[in-house]
Amino acid sequence: MSELIVDGLTVRFAGLTALDAVDFAVPEGSVHAVIGPNGAGKSTCFNVLSGVYRATEGSVRFAGAELTALSPHKIAALGVARTFQNIALSSRQSVENNLMLGRHRLTRAGFASAGLRLPRARREDARHRGRVREIARFVGVSEYLDAPVGMLPYGVQKRVELARALAMEPSLLLLDEPVAGMNGDERRRMAEVIVAARADLGLSILLVEHDMGMVMKLADRVTVLDFGRRIADGTPDEVQRDPAVIRAYLGA
Ligand code: ADP
Ligand code: MG
Repeated sequence: MSELIVDGLTVRFAGLTALDAVDFAVPEGSVHAVIGPNGAGKSTCFNVLSGVYRATEGSVRFAGAELTALSPHKIAALGVARTFQNIALSSRQSVENNLMLGRHRLTRAGFASAGLRLPRARREDARHRGRVREIARFVGVSEYLDAPVGMLPYGVQKRVELARALAMEPSLLLLDEPVAGMNGDERRRMAEVIVAARADLGLSILLVEHDMGMVMKLADRVTVLDFGRRIADGTPDEVQRDPAVIRAYLGA
């Protein structure tokens, strides 16, 4: 079963506890949000889950593996893909090339040998390119496949970043503030794509998001962090009415 189970997760930086014994679980096929004021530890949590930061204590289990012991590469190979709070695409490369790079973990021969024109590598390359085009259609960026990513509107770039994560064919998707900096239209489009990713691709999604409207619309359950501690956990409706959550957001 590919449930994500975070158990007693603690991350300390010199003198600062960014995450303090945090627990939550994301059942297969569900959407779970992690929210909290700035500095609450949300990005730190994602960085541990994707192998960028080391846990000081606690465990993260997914697909039969203990993720805290694994490199980012191995975690990606287990089917965990992420997007970043700030866009992390190759801005001078085309959308298509960025998505092909996202498929990298799936390729055995690698794209280099396609350049050498080995017949098998060429067939593989064509297959990957076909899938990349499907994914581009899925997130609504087909018309931009040949454009350098850096030339595109912000909202489109964010959908390209999601597409690149989907190109890895993940079973768990980590989205760090997917609609931050977007206008209303861009937000609605992104929300539609996230809903479709869950419904059509059967993905589990862990979402960090400030926009409570988005969280209400997308998440089955929500974990609320404040200063590294879990202060609430429940349905979006429950946590929104929780006095501890209201206090944390008002800074009282
Ligand atoms: P959030 O994403 O919820 O805004 P972060 O996880 O980015 O919060 O940060 C949580 C706390 O950990 C903050 O106090 C931040 O300054 C600190 N922090 C994050 N990353 C590092 C790091 N690499 N070194 C030292 N402190 C860090
Ligand atoms: Mg953050």
